[in-house]
Amino acid sequence: MLIQGKKALIFGVANDRSIAYAIARELKNNGASIALSYGSEVLRKRVEPIHQRLEGDFLFQCDVTDDEAIARSAELVAEKWGCFDILVHSVAFANRDDLKGRYVDTSRQGFHLALDISAYSLVALCQAYEKLLNDNGSVMAMTYYGAQKVVSNYNVMGVAKAALEASVRYLAMDLGERGIRVNAISAGPLKTLAASGISGFRSILATIAERAPLRRNITQEDVGKTGLFLASELSRSITGEVFFVDAGYNIMGI
Ligand code: NAD
Repeated sequence: MLIQGKKALIFGVANDRSIAYAIARELKNNGASIALSYGSEVLRKRVEPIHQRLEGDFLFQCDVTDDEAIARSAELVAEKWGCFDILVHSVAFANRDDLKGRYVDTSRQGFHLALDISAYSLVALCQAYEKLLNDNGSVMAMTYYGAQKVVSNYNVMGVAKAALEASVRYLAMDLGERGIRVNAISAGPLKTLAASGISGFRSILATIAERAPLRRNITQEDVGKTGLFLASELSRSITGEVFFVDAGYNIMGI
């Protein structure tokens, strides 16, 4: 078992299509103890059975825009586990109106919201949990191609993901002193709750199936397995990186 005895704290499970769920399952199946966090109380009914199925150690709600809630969650984790080894950030949000049309029309409020939930929250979680993370731990976040290239309708989320990817590099530098690694997975498009907010999502899937070197889309399980790799000793000297799990689509030019 690749991560036998490790403890993994996972933010961002909404349902069994969530990338966070796929990573949690993979980590659990490979020997880790897991704890799940979900964003809002309305998700509790969905997440509780998932937590039971995965035999998680504990489950808690935490809105990542709320510093007090994050601090309380860190107290809970300290009480339940003391220290832990793996932190998974799989959280993003932008107003639906900002995920269509022209980026130039993004409002100040919409920009702040998207950047706060989708990028700053990684910094906030690392800040709150740094002391609880064991030396040589692993932190991972989820990003997308739209951080680096223009993807129609992805708009403010692309800018938030660019900030997230840059944060991954700066956090890797700060936490690297204790051997803690920080990386991002850049997943190809997957049908999830978050993706349902993006206009024209279906046509993105069709384009990947036609143009990606592997001529297909990816699955949640593909991302889960990369999460396992990043959580494990197999990636012990890798930090500050963005890993594409996208059937190769990102390598293509015209
Ligand atoms: P998802 O909807 O299952 O997960 C998004 C999660 O963010 C949800 O659990 C939601 O509750 C949580 N969230 C939103 N606002 C929050 C807040 N204020 N506090 C706490 N949690 C909050 O969708 P997903 O596709 O699994 O998304 C997970 C991550 O993967 C996101 O960062 C997303 O941008 C990224 N990603 C998704 C795709 C895709 O095509 N689905 C591709 C690349 C990257």
